[in-house]
Amino acid sequence: MLLTPHTLVGIAIGASIPNPQIAVPLAFVMHFMGDMVPHWDFYTDTTIEQRQTGWRPIAVMADFGLGIATGTFFTLYALWIAGDASLALNIFLCGIAAVLPDALTAPVMFSKNPNFISKLLGKIQSALQFSAPVIFGLLTQILVSAFAFLLISSSIAL
Ligand SMILES: [Zn+2]
Repeated sequence: MLLTPHTLVGIAIGASIPNPQIAVPLAFVMHFMGDMVPHWDFYTDTTIEQRQTGWRPIAVMADFGLGIATGTFFTLYALWIAGDASLALNIFLCGIAAVLPDALTAPVMFSKNPNFISKLLGKIQSALQFSAPVIFGLLTQILVSAFAFLLISSSIAL
């Protein structure tokens, strides 16, 4: 699944579950649940060469940037507009936890000798990954994102 929908799910958990001891681990686990939703991403049906060259690394960076921008926006919104520092911190931590599995797996994509944790997470993720053709695979992520956004807006009153 793309990083931005993963981030939105994490933010939704951070916004709706105030206790970070529950919310942060849940955001981490929900990453794997997200990957079980049929989806298309930039690595679907690709070889290692295709992952490392051409437009794909740029698209991954753009998605990464959008994910960071989304997390930053809601963190600052909670801090400045809602005036709730603990909510802001919870959203920030959950946003990071929600993309952490992919960040920790990144060495598998780019290195010939990834570390043990990356290899293990890579194996778990590719076992859970449910790939779908592009149109359907993007639609499911739009639905997940929209649901997360509804949860966020009902929790922090946008
Ligand atoms: Zn993943």
